[in-house]
Amino acid sequence: YTPLAELDPEVKNIIDKETWRQFTGLELIASENLTSLAAMEANGSMLTNKYSEGLPNARYYGGNEYIDELEILCRKRALQAFNLDPAKWGVNVQPYSGSTANFAALTALIQPQDRLMGLGLPDGGHLTHGYYTAKKKMTASSIYFQSLPYALSPESQLIDYEGLAASAKIFKPKLIICGASAYPRDWDYATLKKTAEKEGAWLMADIAHTSGLVAAQTLNSPFEYCDVVTTTTHKTLRGPRAGLIFFRKDLKDAADLEKRINDAVFPACQGGPHNNTIAAIATALLQAAQPSFRDYAKQVIANARTLAETLVGHGYKLQTGGTDNHLVLWDLRPIGLTGSKVEKVCDLMGITINKNAVSGDASAQVPGGIRLGTSAITSRNMLEADVKVVGDFLHRAVQLSLVLQKEAGTKLLKDFVRVATVQEEGKEGFAKV
Ligand code: PLP
Repeated sequence: YTPLAELDPEVKNIIDKETWRQFTGLELIASENLTSLAAMEANGSMLTNKYSEGLPNARYYGGNEYIDELEILCRKRALQAFNLDPAKWGVNVQPYSGSTANFAALTALIQPQDRLMGLGLPDGGHLTHGYYTAKKKMTASSIYFQSLPYALSPESQLIDYEGLAASAKIFKPKLIICGASAYPRDWDYATLKKTAEKEGAWLMADIAHTSGLVAAQTLNSPFEYCDVVTTTTHKTLRGPRAGLIFFRKDLKDAADLEKRINDAVFPACQGGPHNNTIAAIATALLQAAQPSFRDYAKQVIANARTLAETLVGHGYKLQTGGTDNHLVLWDLRPIGLTGSKVEKVCDLMGITINKNAVSGDASAQVPGGIRLGTSAITSRNMLEADVKVVGDFLHRAVQLSLVLQKEAGTKLLKDFVRVATVQEEGKEGFAKV
């Protein structure tokens, strides 16, 4: 055994720098979290070495007795963490990520070129929910399927369930996808189910962002109404980077759905499972089933509310005016800034955020807002009083961006961002600018 520092100091050095960045910065990206060291230990284990195409007790490779035990354990924990009855729900724990989980679910549920509907990307939906632009079908979910986005109500900025039902009546989708990457409110799954049933469509929820909050029973559960539920494991669920697909086992053709999902994951979309990741998912799910995780989830939401209140207190506009979950969407358009400028300025202050489209943006390419999340800072035990200070820091970042823009026009702000970024990369900080 040669330690990484000795064998590959270059990579070790990059890992150390990134670790330092994570330790010293404020992580406010809503899709990120800090997984436990125990889960990372499982992820970096000898399980990396093993091939195990297939399912437990039906593999295409020998030597899988312990891998079978692991995958069965992981499935059991996934059902337990979400409080699901194994007679009614099954789960595939092999997806490499949320995107592959979603594409496998689409592959299982509908045929190539069938119709699907998902929340539009500028309204908070994800790329994998059928996104395309006027110029290009740029995601597999729009290349291989016909998709139509549904939208938010321009007045309330909440999902326009009536509009969705009216479009579905005409478009006749075979699949309706709910769930989002940037929607600060909870979902009305019962209403969605009614629409899906009326049109004879499958209903799938992608709870990638909120799954930790759903597992902790702090948000509505999609399991009561949806046929299939997908999630990533690394956002609010706080595990390694991967995906899960839950499917109903109590439908008329339940055996068929189980086989369709499993076949779609392998061999349709993936090869050998990443067993090291499955081990880490199992560990994270064990943690997510503890009472302390429920406290964590409640604190994530309390912190997001505090962040929202702090920003509103400073006079800013938030999409929907607040939040029910872990994220806040900050509309910068009323103060004349774009998300990318504020993202850059925050980077220089050690605050990591991301630019994000806000409802009504003409294009997702020039987002008018930023998205903030409290999952990671809550994992670092921050409470409401700390979050208020974070909100004040963000206020200062935005005021700095505004002053630069106002004093000397957009060009100076652009130069500031460009020069400062170069200097940051050169480790000189922005004192010189
Ligand atoms: N689904 C939603 C709602 C997401 O927000 C994301 C990622 O941000 C994904 C799917 C894709 O997950 P991954 O990056 O693991 O492919």
